[in-house]
Amino acid sequence: MSDFKVTQLKADLDFDQLPYWDVVIIGAGPAGLAAGLTTAHRALTTLVIEAKDRPGGQPQFLYADKRIVDIPGFPDGITGEELSQRTYRQAAEALVQFRFNEELVTIADTDQIENEDKLKRVITSKGSYLCRKVIMACGLLHYPRKLPVLDQLQSRSVHYKIPKIGDYEGSHVAVIGGGDSALDAALMVLARGGEVDLLVRAAEPTGKPDSVNRIRDAGGRVHLLTEITAAQFVGDKIEMQLSTGSSLNCSLAIVQIGFLSAKETFERLELVLNEDGSIAVDPYFETSRKGIFAVGDVHGDIKLIAVAWAEGIQAAIHAFKEITSPYWLNEKRLKDHKIALIGEKIARAAATVRKA
Ligand SMILES: Cc1cc2nc3c(=O)[nH]c(=O)nc-3n(C[C@H](O)[C@H](O)[C@H](O)COP(=O)(O)OP(=O)(O)OC[C@H]3O[C@@H](n4cnc5c(N)ncnc54)[C@H](O)[C@@H]3O)c2cc1C
Repeated sequence: MSDFKVTQLKADLDFDQLPYWDVVIIGAGPAGLAAGLTTAHRALTTLVIEAKDRPGGQPQFLYADKRIVDIPGFPDGITGEELSQRTYRQAAEALVQFRFNEELVTIADTDQIENEDKLKRVITSKGSYLCRKVIMACGLLHYPRKLPVLDQLQSRSVHYKIPKIGDYEGSHVAVIGGGDSALDAALMVLARGGEVDLLVRAAEPTGKPDSVNRIRDAGGRVHLLTEITAAQFVGDKIEMQLSTGSSLNCSLAIVQIGFLSAKETFERLELVLNEDGSIAVDPYFETSRKGIFAVGDVHGDIKLIAVAWAEGIQAAIHAFKEITSPYWLNEKRLKDHKIALIGEKIARAAATVRKA
């Protein structure tokens, strides 16, 4: 048996000039990275959209320092961070292209047909991309949405969850966000003798008006139509420049600007879901929408890195087969084609019966 041969994408390929991508992958966690390097190793142009500023998914963001001991081939274990970095390097070296800080919004069907495939348009928070296949690898977790201008400080003084009481008691705190969780955070700080500046991007907070009144009554300052444009440390204080032209110095920031919610995304995509809210797939990891695959935690009941890898790789290979072979050479397409023919036959028979 011969070894699998990697077919490299050409190093001088101008990705900005592609009329469409072969594959767009949503999420740069274990499943998305494994899928990406598999399609790129088969010379498919591959774009990965990742909502966060770095690749890696849960191992990078939830347990970077944990030594993972159940990955085959690593008898001494490997940290979440190192595993993420290695997998990312492998994908990047295979010429997978990445867009970070960009979120999937929806996927539209188009009328443009390319070798039997109707192209899809993947619409994100920053743009849109035409492609032949989409692989959803965006996990099931709800991550707190990060604020890049504060995140770049990489400081323990920037919180995305409510800090422990001792951390904010009596402190000057900037709370960012206008929803109920931001308002609750502001009230908690005020109740512990803290000073609060609530920064709300919109003209009105979306949280309960009663909470806003309580914040004002307790001495909290509510800044509407206000965003942070820059931030830096001056001594042990965070100095923030605001879009209103003024600046703010505080010792702590609590960011409550929502979550990256898998459920909302799936609803927008109109995919058939399982009872537990995960995406339903067929044995080829294809969803109820043709040409859209789903792999890893996004659908599976066994939530492990090795399983996410394996599913990412399988979906990538099914996508590759569909892209490169006509239906009569492709098991899945042949099956779909047969089912369609049977459907047509049944419909024709039913119409004949009705006429008679
Ligand atoms: C605390 C903890 C410890 C664990 N320990 C282990 C272990 O020891 N061994 C093991 O095998 N497994 C472990 N797991 C499970 C493992 O981490 C997951 O099964 C695995 O990360 C799933 O990979 P994934 O790529 O499907 O999803 P994820 O890792 O969740 O990656 C999804 C990616 O998609 C991105 N994304 C989400 N929504 C969007 C969007 N709308 N647009 C663009 N990008 C988006 C996310 O930012 C993320 O980067 C652990 C899990 C946890 C929580």
